[in-house]
Amino acid sequence: MKITIWNENKHEKTNPKVAEIYPEGIHGALAKIFEGTEHQVQTATLEQPEHGLTEDVLNNTDVLFWWGHMAHHEVSDDIVDRVHKRVLEGMGLVVLHSGHFSKIFKKLMGTSCDLKWREADDRERLWVVDPTHPIAEGIGEYFELEKEEMYGEHFDIPAPDELVFVSWFEGGEVFRSGCTYKRGNGKIFYFRPGHETYPTYYNQDVQKVLVNAANWVKPVDRAYPTYGNAKPIEEISAKN
Ligand code: ZN
Repeated sequence: MKITIWNENKHEKTNPKVAEIYPEGIHGALAKIFEGTEHQVQTATLEQPEHGLTEDVLNNTDVLFWWGHMAHHEVSDDIVDRVHKRVLEGMGLVVLHSGHFSKIFKKLMGTSCDLKWREADDRERLWVVDPTHPIAEGIGEYFELEKEEMYGEHFDIPAPDELVFVSWFEGGEVFRSGCTYKRGNGKIFYFRPGHETYPTYYNQDVQKVLVNAANWVKPVDRAYPTYGNAKPIEEISAKN
């Protein structure tokens, strides 16, 4: 599997706390999760030409991870269209945390993707609500993050095809934290945790979910469907 991890890489440069937690950037920490696996991993960031997502890179990507927050508006619409096309063709997409407001996620969902939020060190408990789902494989009934940003319902997304995780927060809110979608030939997984000021991506259960998610969204071997005017497969008999 060829994995590309995209990160806007801004907080790491402007907030010393984030730089301390993620000295090699959030993309660096995410790439490390796949070290030692058979998968090929590369990273791409906003400041690179074409945001590091050239035609060549995307054509050689089976699974794209997306982390963005403060610079969604700086992502060029042309690149968003390019990623969107690749998802419809079958490229898997894993959207992380504040990526709920990214141009690509909103384009794929067609809703505002808005939610409630709070930065108050809430404890988060993520419940597995679909124990049969491959993305939850190896996870217990639930797992916990000692401190996280709160995201609360209502989350303005289309009803997920499958709901894998529901979060509870110490302050009382709940949130649909692990959602799957299919768009065209492509599969999408949204996973909530990962606020930049917490060491969330070092958590073993979070890492397990991300590896499972890559395996789940990866393309199946199937050509893009043929659309448009179609010749009959059988001869159509003359009718009186
Ligand atoms: Zn956040």
